Amino acid sequence: LIRVEGVHKRFGAHHVLKGVSVDVQAGQVAVILGASGSGKSTLLRMLNRLETHDEGRITVDGIEVGDEPRALERLRAEVGMVFQQFNLFPHLTVLENVMLAPRRVRRLDRPAAETRAKELLERVGLSAHLHKHPFQLSGGQQQRVAIARSLAMQPKVMLFDEPTSALDPEMVKEVLDVMKGLARSGMTMLVVTHEMGFAREVADRVLFIDQGRLAADAPPADFFGAPANERIRLFLGLMA
Ligand code: ATP
Ligand code: MG
Repeated sequence: LIRVEGVHKRFGAHHVLKGVSVDVQAGQVAVILGASGSGKSTLLRMLNRLETHDEGRITVDGIEVGDEPRALERLRAEVGMVFQQFNLFPHLTVLENVMLAPRRVRRLDRPAAETRAKELLERVGLSAHLHKHPFQLSGGQQQRVAIARSLAMQPKVMLFDEPTSALDPEMVKEVLDVMKGLARSGMTMLVVTHEMGFAREVADRVLFIDQGRLAADAPPADFFGAPANERIRLFLGLMA
């Protein structure tokens, strides 16, 4: 579903990604690990064109990732993204936050958008909070709204960039549980996270980025059980 071939990225003289190639099949969950500054967010952001790539080729569900406006529109509809910061609209209620994009972009009528939004908010355990505003919710609840809002566009791929890093520890689990449910439902997911438990339990593959290159691509049992090299051992030691 996702194909990345020989992708390079430079920020000025800084060569951040140095020929990354990876395929992700439909229904797979890939966790991306790597040191701070290794290019994890950059790679994720290139998949929905929040960041350009300098060389190589990226396709998602057959859509060439580039500047062609109609392809970009299709790409953005198919690829949902959840960030560390929840980025909810503060002046809208929970329900309105989830209804907005399907109404504007998919042109759903109000009743259809509302039905879908309520189903999604039930799925993330927020049926009791439909008419609250973001500031009335905990961080974990806000992040679950952000996930529901992304899902409302019926994406084929969900990208998560450290979705639990801004949360208090007691709220991490409720967000990870929603993500686990999503993984079990067959969603194709790319997840940058420091939650090694999630990686072990949920990931089909662990992708390890080191100095701009894909240094490992392995099932979690192999990645954690028999680290391929000293740099991975060092990284895992720091994470433990
Ligand atoms: P972290 O774990 O800290 O989130 P990361 O692996 O996500 O790190 P990136 O955010 O992808 O790393 O950044 C990779 C490198 O590219 C870093 O050195 C960063 O400073 C640089 N970089 C990222 N975005 C830009 C930008 N817009 N302009 C210039 N440099 C950038
Ligand atoms: Mg990052």
